[in-house]
Amino acid sequence: MKILVGNWKSNGNITEKDSMLKALNHLKTNVKIILCLPFTLLYGKKSKISIGAQDISLYSNGAYTGDISGQMIVDTGAKYVIVGHSERRTYHNETNEIVKTKATSAIKNRLTPIICIGETLEQHQSNKTKSVIKRMLLKSIPDSGNFIIAYEPRWAIGTGITPTKTETATIHQMIFEILKGIGKEKTPILFGGSINARNAKRFINIPHVDGFMVGHASLKSETFLPIIKDMN
Ligand code: PEP
Repeated sequence: MKILVGNWKSNGNITEKDSMLKALNHLKTNVKIILCLPFTLLYGKKSKISIGAQDISLYSNGAYTGDISGQMIVDTGAKYVIVGHSERRTYHNETNEIVKTKATSAIKNRLTPIICIGETLEQHQSNKTKSVIKRMLLKSIPDSGNFIIAYEPRWAIGTGITPTKTETATIHQMIFEILKGIGKEKTPILFGGSINARNAKRFINIPHVDGFMVGHASLKSETFLPIIKDMN
């Protein structure tokens, strides 16, 4: 089953969430849809669409003003949480070690972490993608428990620029082999970065692309639903 993660980032309100869930709930699809919403929108009625958060505190409940713990996320009914998104790595200086701690905390709370990894444009242009991704992957994943990987080249996020099919296939194959080497070959590996209804078909049949993480195009049903159709 292919997986589609919609990452709403710091966008959306309750009306927009309700209208998206209404549209998604009416769909007949084999794609597993996970909507990763801002904390303010996590609570809600159960639906067939899975809900995820976009970050998790490093700490358990306690004196950590402003933090949202794993337990709090679970209480909302959410089942997933994005960790190590490139925007968190860039704007909040999240290191691989922090990402691993957050992923571990998610698992402790029975949330499935969606762990993001991706190289910068400079690393890409200097042919360092493979070594950077290998290191990020091995340093960001928890020591035990199941997780999802989202490979998102940083230079492709929100830019409208995507890697070639061959580049994508090479990195997904490498991620798969690394995961296989540690007994984690069943881990879904998603691709992300400017995926939309015009390019989804180009990437979905690449070996070891088990689905997508989508930002901008996940905000409106007019742009999100056609991607789901292309994944069937
Ligand atoms: C993302 O936020 O993870 C992402 C891939 O964004 P966009 O689809 O807008 O590039």
